[in-house]
Amino acid sequence: MERPAPPPWKVKVVEPIALRSPAERRRALDHAGYNTFLLRSEDVFVDLLTDSGTSALSQEQRAAMELGDEAYAGSRSFFRLDEVVRETYGYPYLVPTHQGRGAEHLLARALVRPGTIVPSNLYFTTSREHVELAGGRWVDVAIAEASVPASPFPFKGNIDLARLEEVLSAARPDEVAYVRQEACLNMAGGQPFSIENLIAVRELTRTFGVPFVLDATRISENALFVKEREPGYASRSLPELVRLIADHADGAIFSSKKDHFVPIGGFVAVNDEALATRLRELVVLYEGFPHYGGLAGHDMEALAQGIRESTDERVVGAYVSQARYLGELLQDAGVPIVLPVGAHAVFVDAKRSLPDLEQDSFPAQALAAAFYLAGGVRSMERGIVSGQHGSEPYDGLELVRLTIPRRVYTQEHLTWVADVVVGTLAHAADVPGLRITYEPEHLRFFQARFAPLSPFPDLALEHAVAPAAALATA
Ligand SMILES: *Cc1c(COP(=O)(O)O)cnc(C)c1O
Repeated sequence: MERPAPPPWKVKVVEPIALRSPAERRRALDHAGYNTFLLRSEDVFVDLLTDSGTSALSQEQRAAMELGDEAYAGSRSFFRLDEVVRETYGYPYLVPTHQGRGAEHLLARALVRPGTIVPSNLYFTTSREHVELAGGRWVDVAIAEASVPASPFPFKGNIDLARLEEVLSAARPDEVAYVRQEACLNMAGGQPFSIENLIAVRELTRTFGVPFVLDATRISENALFVKEREPGYASRSLPELVRLIADHADGAIFSSKKDHFVPIGGFVAVNDEALATRLRELVVLYEGFPHYGGLAGHDMEALAQGIRESTDERVVGAYVSQARYLGELLQDAGVPIVLPVGAHAVFVDAKRSLPDLEQDSFPAQALAAAFYLAGGVRSMERGIVSGQHGSEPYDGLELVRLTIPRRVYTQEHLTWVADVVVGTLAHAADVPGLRITYEPEHLRFFQARFAPLSPFPDLALEHAVAPAAALATA
């Protein structure tokens, strides 16, 4: 196994964590309605719920925060952020928002009209919801491989060009709000698009005269994979590749809680002045004055510095290699995971892990609950609970996401996680399905509650177990 290179940082401030007893974990999970979102973080040992806002700040980011200008209008911190966005991504018009969904909301309000469509590679929960709330329709134009966990295809973030052309041909240009392509496609396991595909999408959107917007939340990771996987780019620097990707779109939305290492923040940045004006009219209604958009001055300072660090290849390479390390531990033990391993997470395939459970008993939700019981590891369901929408039938992916906060956990934490996953799957046949006891109307995965169809078995692992090879030998 390839060992991860030592990261280009060391720990300066620590936050204590503790593994609750097996009985306490059972109580906590029951209290949380078997939904890992509803656990208290103090009851969690290794928190791989999300990489969103959970990264460690650098000393440079903390220092920059001291320089925050909290002026309501004309804040120095805004102009510093604006300059870094322009230098890094090239977009001349920046509208900061409190986080990514704030940017999605503004963009949907500005561009989506009832009856318009947004062709996109798969979907992201909040991205799709904002388009639909504005009366638009989401149209999936991802390549087929994006939904095949076992496919090792290196660019699962690609758009199916023939399908996109068909969709664009069938609509009038004013019926297409925009085409969206997501970098390091979360729902496909954190998989990149190729620059070749990006260029082809750019050309198609030009031919049909429709806007092309990136969800650039994970652009740095996408750029790193391009460097590693796409012929012709190995010698390009990460900042060059990031810029090359950004240059091919009319604008982008960012959740800065991911690649930019901040606990809160996001923005939309565009090339078109008229669109920027419209976005600024909206931002004052929903977020705040255009010079802060729902962020404090010190948040914008941390974000500006985070953007700089996000194109440092050693930094991005270090955390991407952590996901690869965890992925290899799991794969070597025979755990079915989504391949290739993505940038920010390892996705366990719950359908193959718990083959006895039908999808309507929520195998991924059940498996996430089991990982918590086994070793205090918090993960997230990415399957029918996250994916099903209204009465639409769903037979897609059924995954548990182990998401790695950037610069936070050590290799030992990841080894513990691997032991927990492998130890749990040794009892796969005994993991019960779940039923829903409460279902919210929107984005149900956040707050839905469940009950087990039969009691969970005793899954608790002891600390200091030997590296488990249980599945491989079972
Ligand atoms: C997290 C995320 C969002 C939403 O951003 P928030 O900051 O959580 O509001 C949008 N798109 C993608 C791809 C994301 O990962």
